[in-house]
Amino acid sequence: MCCFLQDFEEPAAARTLKQVEEDVHEIHCSRERSRAAWKIIEEYLMPFVEKERYQISTMCRLHPDNDLFRDQEQHKFHVDINEWKCGFCKKRFYEEKYIDQHFDNRHYNLLNVVCSLCLL
Ligand SMILES: [Zn+2]
Repeated sequence: MCCFLQDFEEPAAARTLKQVEEDVHEIHCSRERSRAAWKIIEEYLMPFVEKERYQISTMCRLHPDNDLFRDQEQHKFHVDINEWKCGFCKKRFYEEKYIDQHFDNRHYNLLNVVCSLCLL
């Protein structure tokens, strides 16, 4: 595990992260679960990391560069309630699940597919 996590003693966040790990260990590289896990990390862990000015190693799986889906998620634009737009090809979708499928089908080559990068 990461070096900085050894010093990490915020109980609620630690518990949440542990729960996520236990819940999802049997499924690999799920976009939805990855998104949920990153949301928790950004919500609970990152404010602490920033406050204490820890540097997360780029080797660490919690470093943002090691987020398998980040590039795609950053190209997903929620334009309106029923409108999602692909930032790569500008195609539009009615639901998030369709743009997720579109990323899987049309832009899978943009994924950082080294399997060790998967947070789950
Ligand atoms: Zn597209």
